[in-house]
Amino acid sequence: MDHSQQRRAITVLGATGSVGESTLDVIARNPDRFEVIALTAHRNVEDLARHCARFNARYAVISDATRLEALRSALAHHGATAEAQAGPQALLDAVAHPEVQVVMSAIVGAAGLAPTLLAAERGLTLLLANKESVVIAGQLLMDAARTSGAKILPVDSEHNAVFQALPARFDPLHPEALATCGVEKIILTASGGPFRDTPAAELEKVTPEQACAHPNWDMGRKISVDSATLMNKGLELIEAHWLFGARPDQLEVLIHPQSIVHSMVCYLDGSVLAQMGTPDMRTPIAHTLAWPDRCEAGVERLDLASAGQLSFSAPDTNRFPALNLAYEAMKVGRSAPITLNAANEIAVERFLQGAIGFNRIAAIVSRVLDETPTEEIRSIEDIMQHDHRVRARALEHCAGEER
Ligand code: NAD
Ligand code: MG
Repeated sequence: MDHSQQRRAITVLGATGSVGESTLDVIARNPDRFEVIALTAHRNVEDLARHCARFNARYAVISDATRLEALRSALAHHGATAEAQAGPQALLDAVAHPEVQVVMSAIVGAAGLAPTLLAAERGLTLLLANKESVVIAGQLLMDAARTSGAKILPVDSEHNAVFQALPARFDPLHPEALATCGVEKIILTASGGPFRDTPAAELEKVTPEQACAHPNWDMGRKISVDSATLMNKGLELIEAHWLFGARPDQLEVLIHPQSIVHSMVCYLDGSVLAQMGTPDMRTPIAHTLAWPDRCEAGVERLDLASAGQLSFSAPDTNRFPALNLAYEAMKVGRSAPITLNAANEIAVERFLQGAIGFNRIAAIVSRVLDETPTEEIRSIEDIMQHDHRVRARALEHCAGEER
């Protein structure tokens, strides 16, 4: 197919991360489809400059402003012509350049919110991997898309699977979106993470390295820990609530250790539609990049005969309490998901730094949720204020626990 007439202008936020680099890999396989406008990273100037040279990006953006000079030298070293920019405003500009049509949102954590929301406000096509921004600002994001006409395409593998199993006419902005398509419920699958079969008593002692060694997926460190606690699946429940307009009672989680069925949609006639594939983020990424077409993603093809077995079971919420904390936060609504996410980001960071034990992550999130009154959220400023307060509180709890 010749796409040269219609190369789309893309910015990749978080271009040096796991999802960001997989996105660039798919773009490299489809050079006639995309023109790279801006690539962003937090501190890693070396990889950012290398990617900018390879993709002939116009802007190289480093969010940590102290790294601007280092970025300039790295760009020169790699012979990249991209203009170097730094700081929070530059991150917003990466989205706001008038030529940008598509934004891949692949920053990790609440740090991705401002540019992600801006992409929705500007009516762009938003390829959404940064689940934390949906968790903390679902209403604002969906409202922005409603007003601007932005198209939000889910990159998270489960939500991408659900999106693929929904009819093309599904409109997430319609108040009865699922009902009008005859959908009864959505089942998100979870691999169960590296500690799926680890006895409760041993969970206390697991190390950051063990937590980051995911059996099926190769991901950034924060989401790897979230997968190990099942908080990732909890965040994904809230993500599905917003992206598909699903009520909490329409959302279920099933443990599926092979990570081949990426999620399912159950219809009122008894049909269950699933999307399958090998566990490689380049499939959902390519799906959103080419949508509504398809494009080559470079992934290994699924061979069900050699996979042999697909198994499913209910999650163990005693060993992995994070899932229920997320259900509760979703039901309470208002600022509760912001509290859940901020406390989790802090606890995960302190676990990765070796300061607190693995089991303390969910325990701290639970205590912070109990202590924090819920508030009305009307703006990104409300979100950031609540987020900062909760982070401070969560840090105090971590300090109280440090070993
Ligand atoms: P990662 O840690 O590998 O990469 C994160 C990227 O964000 C890097 O480019 C980094 O430079 C940038 N970044 C980090 N902190 C930042 C900050 N404060 N300001 C600006 N930029 C910052 O993470 P990842 O695994 O690629 O995940 C990215 C997002 O995608 C997360 O929200 C994650 O939950 C989601 N996601 C990831 C996967 C996966 O397979 N890795 C799957 C589904 C969803
Ligand atoms: Mg996922």
